[in-house]
Amino acid sequence: MCREGQNDDGLSRPQRFKKRSMTEIYKNVEELLLATNPQSPVYCIYPHVYRDSTRHFLQGFPGRVLYAVKANNHPAVLKQIYDAGVRNFDCASLPEIELVSKTCPDSTMYYMNPARLDGHARRAQTEHGVRHFVVDHHSGLAPLIQEIDPKNSVIFARMAVSHVSAMENLSAKFGAKPENVPALLMEIFKTGAEPALAFNVGTGVKDPEAYVYSLGIANEALSNLPFKVRLLDIGGGFPRPYPGYKVPKLDDYFSHIRSASAALPLAKNGELLAEPGRALSAPGLSAVTRVLLRKTDRVYLNDGMYGVFWELRFKGHRRYPCRVFRNGLPLVGETRSFRLFGPTCDSSDELPGRVELPVAIDVGDHIEFGAIGAYSLSGRTNFNGFYSDNVISIGDEGARPPQ
Ligand SMILES: *Cc1c(COP(=O)(O)O)cnc(C)c1O
Repeated sequence: MCREGQNDDGLSRPQRFKKRSMTEIYKNVEELLLATNPQSPVYCIYPHVYRDSTRHFLQGFPGRVLYAVKANNHPAVLKQIYDAGVRNFDCASLPEIELVSKTCPDSTMYYMNPARLDGHARRAQTEHGVRHFVVDHHSGLAPLIQEIDPKNSVIFARMAVSHVSAMENLSAKFGAKPENVPALLMEIFKTGAEPALAFNVGTGVKDPEAYVYSLGIANEALSNLPFKVRLLDIGGGFPRPYPGYKVPKLDDYFSHIRSASAALPLAKNGELLAEPGRALSAPGLSAVTRVLLRKTDRVYLNDGMYGVFWELRFKGHRRYPCRVFRNGLPLVGETRSFRLFGPTCDSSDELPGRVELPVAIDVGDHIEFGAIGAYSLSGRTNFNGFYSDNVISIGDEGARPPQ
């Protein structure tokens, strides 16, 4: 029996060439500001932060770690996560698979979206060696089977679970009801593919109990099958703390998952998989924005809800940690609470959370927002003509983004 993730599955894979995504390097944000006094937003990668947080996740999670590419698909960010040791990628579409294949040599891509365009599963398998797919309804199974070699494939049945502690319910759209999962697994089994089980609790999950609860439901679904399932994918949802959004440490999640999964009726060579997006992509990126206008308690920035801050429109966290610079030096002193606005003409382009900033803040100052790597770069628009793709790297290992 070959171990998953190794390229010994008999399918030939196209040769991959290593491509470096080049970003300019500055010692720290102070140096960036002094050297360039940027008018447009600059997104700063802290490679040492990505390295440490990614390794921590890889070491702590009791199973295989797939990075959920949708959380941040910027090649320079993918490369950080890859360089720290991640070799498995949860992709939602053929373009994401193609991107990972170009950016992250010798990686394994998983096509984990029940909704696919015609022909894309076939191309994923023949052109990129993809072996893992997902369905959440029998109407999705026949079209998939027509495009792939089932004998060489693993097909996950996606089960709907949700928990009140998630910031966004990701089972409202995809996922079969738990009582329908055994039948779906049987259908997969009959195609000749290897059946496996997947769920996704939500995003920004505030309570490790959500995983324990979902593993309990999975346990039930797996207990009444005439065969044993080898792979259980518990999805993403591992949180990142933000101001006003306190969450337990990731290690708490890992230990809850470790003990709750001990009792699962998996096959002997059974394995857990996780699909963290936020936990891997959030920590090592900051956004350096510029103040365009200041009116009493209002600050207008060159980036907003149509840009890097788009995730704040959902009902999760409301703020990112931040700090202010003037002429490349930290601006400190007495603070007050401010409303922050984006640069577009849309009056809803206001960040939802009030932020404490120095009273003296003024036009031309810069604000750096930390922990902004998740659901930020990947959803920017050029609405009203505001768009920046200026991504740089911070070279000094002692430099920390705002916490
Ligand atoms: C969005 C998503 C993820 C990643 O979620 P995070 O909260 O960013 O960890 C993982 N799996 C699936 C199926 C998703 O839809």
